[in-house]
Amino acid sequence: MVEQVETTFDYVVVGGGLAGCAVAARLSENPDARVILIEAGDENRYEQSYYSVGVHAMFESEANWAFKTVPQPELNNAEVAHPRGKVIGGSAAINIGSWSRGIAADYDAWEAAGAGGWNGKDALSYYEAIETSKRPDGGGRGRRGPMIFEDTPVVSRMTDLLRRACIEAGYGTTEDHNGAKFDGFDLWETIFPYGRRRNSAEAYLRSARVRKNLTVLTRAMTTRIEIAGNRATGVEIERDGQTGTITASREVLLCAGAFGSPQLLMLSGVGPGDHLRTHGIKTVADLPGVGANLIDHLATRLGWAAGSPEGIAPVYGDPSDPSQLETWRHSGTGLLSANPYTSIAFVRSTDEVDLPDIELLFGINPPESLTVDKTVSGFTTFVAHVTPQSRGTVRLASADPHDPPVIDPGYLTDPNDLPVLIAGVRRALALAATQQLRPYTGRYELNQGATDEEIAAWIRSHPVTMFHPVGTTRMGASDDAYAVLDPELRVRGIDGLRVLDVSAMPGIIRGHTMAPALYIAERGAAVIRTGSRM
Ligand SMILES: Cc1cc2nc3c(=O)[nH]c(=O)nc-3n(C[C@H](O)[C@H](O)[C@H](O)COP(=O)(O)OP(=O)(O)OC[C@H]3O[C@@H](n4cnc5c(N)ncnc54)[C@H](O)[C@@H]3O)c2cc1C
Repeated sequence: MVEQVETTFDYVVVGGGLAGCAVAARLSENPDARVILIEAGDENRYEQSYYSVGVHAMFESEANWAFKTVPQPELNNAEVAHPRGKVIGGSAAINIGSWSRGIAADYDAWEAAGAGGWNGKDALSYYEAIETSKRPDGGGRGRRGPMIFEDTPVVSRMTDLLRRACIEAGYGTTEDHNGAKFDGFDLWETIFPYGRRRNSAEAYLRSARVRKNLTVLTRAMTTRIEIAGNRATGVEIERDGQTGTITASREVLLCAGAFGSPQLLMLSGVGPGDHLRTHGIKTVADLPGVGANLIDHLATRLGWAAGSPEGIAPVYGDPSDPSQLETWRHSGTGLLSANPYTSIAFVRSTDEVDLPDIELLFGINPPESLTVDKTVSGFTTFVAHVTPQSRGTVRLASADPHDPPVIDPGYLTDPNDLPVLIAGVRRALALAATQQLRPYTGRYELNQGATDEEIAAWIRSHPVTMFHPVGTTRMGASDDAYAVLDPELRVRGIDGLRVLDVSAMPGIIRGHTMAPALYIAERGAAVIRTGSRM
């Protein structure tokens, strides 16, 4: 196992997910830098990962860590499922793949929270370098970056009805929510160009893998960071039932994701001293912020179905249908390439709010809870709170690296969050009441006259995550005791150790979290290579 590869590298990158693939590719552009990328999962050989409707099959596969939260008291003690990718490409190999950057104010808030230099203007310059977008040039979109986007195919007239309904309800539309105007109805721009998933494993790592100075080690679980004195010197790994050590002559770079990165730090003695002691782990650096500040986008789902089968036929991609599979294999088109969740609208929960705080995410079919008749038309709306105040934790269950971490997002523990979600649900109800959509609302889950208490009860009993956990080793200023990283992503108190993934985010963005993961990866790699931001 480890004997098959060299064991000393300049840079040891832990986690071959969305960020890790980009970091390893960027660092290995320097032919003098010896880089190893270590991934717990395997190569991505799953065909269903590459077509849009294969996501649910990926959840059932070995490529999913299949985490879940501890019971959430504010959600009737629900244990919310948190799939995470365990495969080259990471969670971006099992995700929905929509590209949504948030707004400049989200990143300005990072700088205000102590992450000097990480403001909206800088984020935009990185996104222009990361993206290849075909959207109209409304401002600030990249045209030549490694990540190539395409609008998700529109296969149902329901998408247009949802667009018209947004206009009727006063939510408006935008030509590009990643461009000049964030709020209003928009189609999804996705990482499925030509109908085929193209995450950072394809966009960054694939071409880099021919380099002699880059080694990719799959099926290798990092179990601990080796730390001598106050310097990270490498990592301990397990592969094929054996253990070994990979030495880093320059730096260890954690890209193990919002749950994996803090877990590895704590297993290695870097974290809240009192918590480490309860698991018999010797404290190397007492950093109370490790595993704190877990933030996620909580959502709820609402559905409507027509009273009779007439209307707009629902559309279901079915991988077990050989003709659909053949069409996709042949041309990247057909129903397997068409995610039923095609469009979104960022809206303000109330007219008093300055910026959008709610995402409405639209599906073109009714939910199964209303009808299993696949001829009945309808639609589904997820309502997500994109500026939550609730914060949670990631903690160790034990000192055994094989035990999943204890994930407690603390959903709705901040009293400000529930009223925003209730108001967001009212926005979705108002949309369903429009003339455009009313013919498809004969069957419903929540009636138009629902009281705040009834809506709150619905949210508590129908919670879902948008799968956006972030913030668990956040950046911050030097006088902030809970800041784990400095603005150059270095772990405080330990030399030669950085975190370059969504864990570094001081706050969550209004968009989806692939974009900031790649921003942090690109900027972190640039800082390491050049000592400056570009
Ligand atoms: C179901 C789902 C749907 C989503 N939909 C969207 C979407 O539509 N749009 C969007 O923008 N975002 C979406 N996301 C979120 C997005 O995919 C993540 O924010 C992003 O992938 C995070 O990147 P990362 O590099 O920080 O972590 P990851 O991509 O999760 O990568 C972490 C990697 O580290 C590896 N690893 C962990 N621990 C170890 C260890 N001990 N040893 C070795 N390797 C290890 C993991 O196996 C994994 O490959 C979704 C996520 C999920 C799960």
